[in-house]
Amino acid sequence: MSNQPSAAVIGSGFGGLSLAIRLQSSGINTTVLEKRDKPGGRAYVYEDKGFSFDGGPTVITDPSSLESLFKLSGRKMEDYVELMPIDPMYRLCWEDGDVFDYTNDNEKLEAQIRARSPEDLEGYRRFLEYSSNTFEKGYLELGHVPFLNFGSMLKVAPDLIRLGAYRSVYSMVSKFIKDEHLRQAFSFHPLLVGGNPFKTSAIYSLIHALEREWGVWFARGGTAALVRGLVRLFEDLGGTIRLNAEVSSIQEANGRITGLTTQDGWSGSFDAVASNADVMHTYRKLLGHTARGQRKSRTLNRQKWSMSLFVIYFGLKRVHPDLKHHMVIFGPRYKELIHDIFNAPDLADDFSLYLHAPTLSDPSLAPEGCSAYYVLSPVPHLGTADLNWDEVGPKYTDRILGYLEQHYLPGLKDDLVTLRTLTPFGFRDDLNAHHGSAFSVEPVLTQSAWFRPHNRDPKLDNLYLVGAGTHPGAGIPGVVGSARATASLMLDDFNLPAQAI
Ligand SMILES: Cc1cc2nc3c(=O)[nH]c(=O)nc-3n(C[C@H](O)[C@H](O)[C@H](O)COP(=O)(O)OP(=O)(O)OC[C@H]3O[C@@H](n4cnc5c(N)ncnc54)[C@H](O)[C@@H]3O)c2cc1C
Repeated sequence: MSNQPSAAVIGSGFGGLSLAIRLQSSGINTTVLEKRDKPGGRAYVYEDKGFSFDGGPTVITDPSSLESLFKLSGRKMEDYVELMPIDPMYRLCWEDGDVFDYTNDNEKLEAQIRARSPEDLEGYRRFLEYSSNTFEKGYLELGHVPFLNFGSMLKVAPDLIRLGAYRSVYSMVSKFIKDEHLRQAFSFHPLLVGGNPFKTSAIYSLIHALEREWGVWFARGGTAALVRGLVRLFEDLGGTIRLNAEVSSIQEANGRITGLTTQDGWSGSFDAVASNADVMHTYRKLLGHTARGQRKSRTLNRQKWSMSLFVIYFGLKRVHPDLKHHMVIFGPRYKELIHDIFNAPDLADDFSLYLHAPTLSDPSLAPEGCSAYYVLSPVPHLGTADLNWDEVGPKYTDRILGYLEQHYLPGLKDDLVTLRTLTPFGFRDDLNAHHGSAFSVEPVLTQSAWFRPHNRDPKLDNLYLVGAGTHPGAGIPGVVGSARATASLMLDDFNLPAQAI
């Protein structure tokens, strides 16, 4: 028998894989247990008729956080996966035909701002400065540090006040910029991590500086290739990943976790367990037989959850070279639509869309002469709008594809080769996501940092959380940062040396 400490990670999302790599790199014998037949979580990959569709994340920001995972064991990321820069980072389009290429090239960015609204140029520069200050504090300093007690929150309170954390992202952007389209261009980012730009703390304006700092990247072979690279790294380090292994309960005795049982009856004992699964699922289902599980799930039930998404993956038998890789298509309403997505008991008549066209950067994701896409529409989660997506989904698909055909992809319906959808039911059933939420607990100030479920459970000493539901939150940089925060606690608890990166 080895004396190596052991740990289990429930779930193989970006957070779970990053944590598993960190633990294994430090000599902890780590096993990842994943419910589905493929790793990646929200970054699942669908394949059909020679097309490859990344299920979720496509905009890779802060590649340095991913590189660290390889550097920990002296390896190089480029030996596992190739990242390609994407420019413009996004093309933004409005109903009136207005187009804005959101680029990292300062000259081109400023030229577009000047052309659209000269008086906003100076305001944009001041916004960038604000965003950079927020990025330094909120991301570089605090994005990977666990907040375990109220004292840690009090310590950062003066900075939060100085940075205007009590304002929303939209309100902060509006302080600097007057033009409505430019306000939208610099305030929509919270939606990428499940937040409402009119409610999410202005601290999230840091995403703009983060994108300006490192740009936007795409993995050759799709995000799936990045997931495969992380899994290969973990296995090269000696870690074990078990697929089709849905954990059904976590065992606890005297305030400590002792092991896990999977749906198919397998049980294992571990010195520590970290859950990358949905945080409500972890407490309500996996720990539902314990007093702690019942109590925490009642608290979580009172929290606000981020919206869900409706995603259509489709392949066409021709290419559309005039599009851009990442396109944000604003509908006729902005504030009102976002209000409906977060509050209304039904689907709105209009929508705003994100269109992903990856074959423009990597044609290998579709057969020769064809192109692959996904289009997503943010929609209310099932706790807000209790819709029957089996009925609503096909009609909604028709409306969205009709819109795309009319405005961006002429001939779309005739050219369709393959099509599938992901609805809030998929988030609920495939990913065990509470309310079918796409991004877990909503990122508002009162549910951030110490107010978010902690990286280590306060009552069960060797139970940890990693991923979107814990600090700092959703998005690849967020969950990779959460893995760093959680690993720091676990290494400390195992009396192992801290990791410098
Ligand atoms: C459509 C979409 C597009 C997105 N686009 C971007 C983007 O472009 N850029 C970006 O940075 N972020 C994006 N995001 C957000 C980002 O993908 C997520 O925040 C992040 O990937 C979540 O990672 P996670 O570590 O929390 O784990 P998840 O991806 O949520 O994975 C959790 C895993 O746990 C497994 N699991 C659940 N229950 C059990 C159980 N009982 N036993 C075993 N396993 C279990 C699940 O099967 C899943 O594999 C997007 C999200 C979505 C949905």
